[in-house]
Amino acid sequence: MNVRDSEHIIAELKDENYKLTDDITQADLILINTCSVREKPVHKLFSEIGGFEKNKKVGAKIGVLGCTASHLGKDIIKRAPYVDFVLGARNTSKIKQALKTTKFVSTDINYDDSEYAFKEFRSSPYKAFVNITIGCDKKCTYCIVPQTRGDEISIPLNLILAEVEKAAKNGAKEIFLLGQNVNNYGRRFSNSHEKVDFSDLLNRVSGISGVERIRFTSPHPLHMDDKFLDTFVNNPKICKSMHMPLQSGSSEILKAMKRGYTKEWFLDRALKLRKLCPEVSISTDIIVAYPGESDEDFADTMDVIEQVKFEQIFSFKFSPRPLTFAANLEMIDDEIASKRLTTLQNRHNEILDEIMSAQMGKTHSVYFEELRADGMVGGRSFSNFSVMVKGSEELLGTTRDVIITQPKRMALIGELV
Ligand code: SAH
Ligand code: SF4
Repeated sequence: MNVRDSEHIIAELKDENYKLTDDITQADLILINTCSVREKPVHKLFSEIGGFEKNKKVGAKIGVLGCTASHLGKDIIKRAPYVDFVLGARNTSKIKQALKTTKFVSTDINYDDSEYAFKEFRSSPYKAFVNITIGCDKKCTYCIVPQTRGDEISIPLNLILAEVEKAAKNGAKEIFLLGQNVNNYGRRFSNSHEKVDFSDLLNRVSGISGVERIRFTSPHPLHMDDKFLDTFVNNPKICKSMHMPLQSGSSEILKAMKRGYTKEWFLDRALKLRKLCPEVSISTDIIVAYPGESDEDFADTMDVIEQVKFEQIFSFKFSPRPLTFAANLEMIDDEIASKRLTTLQNRHNEILDEIMSAQMGKTHSVYFEELRADGMVGGRSFSNFSVMVKGSEELLGTTRDVIITQPKRMALIGELV
């Protein structure tokens, strides 16, 4: 989501004749787009901007954007007075105003960007990120996102379709739909709008000429009804990889987190998906050591891992965030938290090694999008495995069958068929 926000900002700045550079000493404007989901990146922000201030060109401006900008606001300028402006995650469209106004701070978390038509900039010609919702209405007790990105609002269907058409015409064969709860699309628009849900949206996007692959993140397990699973399984343009953020396998902890589903519901959906679509790969997010998590609760999380055998797990220790309910709860001892994280990650690695070894000799349809320095070209299989073959730039933007000859934990190496 931050990558897409950065693309929006770059697109607006092109109007003002800015060009991109990675060289801090050359830049007239230095922008830092921040995350605040966990605590670490927030600390990193202040050490990074201190370094930028030391090395920047005389007169260069520094702007802090994104979720940390939303929740710290003007305190960022108090702590780092050389920062020229602060623009919250939902205020991306105000970048030109920020450039023209001294010490501009805008952190309105419910600012309505949903109908704003951004200019065109894509960091990859092969795939296009397209926002479909902004904000989040859920109240997961650990999560700061609703406080930094505001209430959930859907972007009108006609704007999404126009953006997809434009991207497809410019050569992006893969469309990546973005939102905090994508499968809740259509819940609320800022103006009157025809009734449309995420399954309808997927079918409309797949009808656009030039679109070959559709991906999306994040869907919410609570909204994985049968209509959604059916659309996912049966629409041939939807890539068969599903992100199912579990957070915890314990129904008690899920209730304490206010996730709205139980262990049984999650397992029912994940196992039904595996049955309906044997080639699917399922990824997840897990938080260990949420306040109050007992050994039995953690064992429930491990049980879900055994049953679902996720292809990918993003796992984190609970990090207390300001403005959230869970920030005031008693933390679990850090040693126990670290031990649980290691147990989970070690078991996942064993499962992953089995999944990857089983790919040996199999053929995957790979869309190539990355030229690597080691003479390899990388891409993604339809079920989201990272696949690499020896090759050159002619492969970029093409979809080819690849037979896997060397499965590794993080990627599959293969040969073109
Ligand atoms: N909308 C998505 C999550 C977006 S945040 C969803 O509902 O799943 C991305 C991930 O960060 C979350 O899934 C969660 O696993 C993790 N996360 C969020 N807040 C956290 C916190 N306080 N501590 C640790 N991990 C957290
Ligand atoms: Fe955060 Fe929950 Fe919203 Fe995801 S659904 S962004 S975890 S509040």
